[in-house]
Amino acid sequence: MQHLVDTYDFSEKQIANILKDARAFKKQMPSQLLRDKLLITLFFESSTRTRSSFEVAAKRLGAAVVHLDPAKSSTNKGESLEDTFANLCAMEPDGVIIRHEYNNTPRKLADKELTCVINAGAGNYAHPTQALLDYFTMLEHFGDLKGKTIAIVGDIVSSRVASSGIRLFTRMGMNVVLVAPQPFMPDNDLPKYEQLDDVIDNVDIIMSLRAQLERHKAPIFEDYEEYAKEYCITSERLGERNILLLHPGPVMRNIDISDEMLEDSRCKVLEQVKNGVFVRMAILKALLLDS
Ligand code: ASP
Repeated sequence: MQHLVDTYDFSEKQIANILKDARAFKKQMPSQLLRDKLLITLFFESSTRTRSSFEVAAKRLGAAVVHLDPAKSSTNKGESLEDTFANLCAMEPDGVIIRHEYNNTPRKLADKELTCVINAGAGNYAHPTQALLDYFTMLEHFGDLKGKTIAIVGDIVSSRVASSGIRLFTRMGMNVVLVAPQPFMPDNDLPKYEQLDDVIDNVDIIMSLRAQLERHKAPIFEDYEEYAKEYCITSERLGERNILLLHPGPVMRNIDISDEMLEDSRCKVLEQVKNGVFVRMAILKALLLDS
């Protein structure tokens, strides 16, 4: 049984097929490839884009989707996550799409081999479908990404988007550099900068991230205007440079990216959301039909 906990669950050949299918789906909506499939979504953390994107993707392929709201489920009455999951699996879905605050939850559930587990975001460890849709969006723009440099800017230490992205982008031959104030910087051996201006002339893509205040125990900055002064992506900071700008959302306007930059054609935030549906359609096909 194939799962998607991390992008490493896919071989390079599978990733190439997913990108190819996503491209084809974007050109022409396919027929009801997953007509007889049933998916359950189980989101223990908030989500706007990822949950709706999975639902839209599944429905575009003809699959049925049932959503369980954990706040109104028996996990609230003391049932363990494992028991909730086993009960859902007894209904014989073809897959469970899960988001959870703990890094290891999707792997733990996948190891039970009860159904296909699809990670829709776990702790600060992995968000594989976001990494794949980000890769797709960059590839669509550049054609070839080998040797291209992406700067990940912001609250990197809290970001599963960054961790998954770093693993996928480096595996695919891209250079990754990190730009963040010290409290937002993870501990790894990638090149690190405290100022975007120190590296901006050498980057092809900037991925801006939200300061995930809900994941920091103590307030890191007293004043986010101070943070924005250094890290907000503005038209002045980018100048005329031909840099692609990504952000996984939700964007904190004028802290992560300025209003003006959000309107700029170099900013691909809504294109990422659009591509997310096609990439997730391709991922569901890969997991439920092809493997
Ligand atoms: N939406 C992304 C996530 O779920 C990023 C964020 O919340 O800032 O990880």
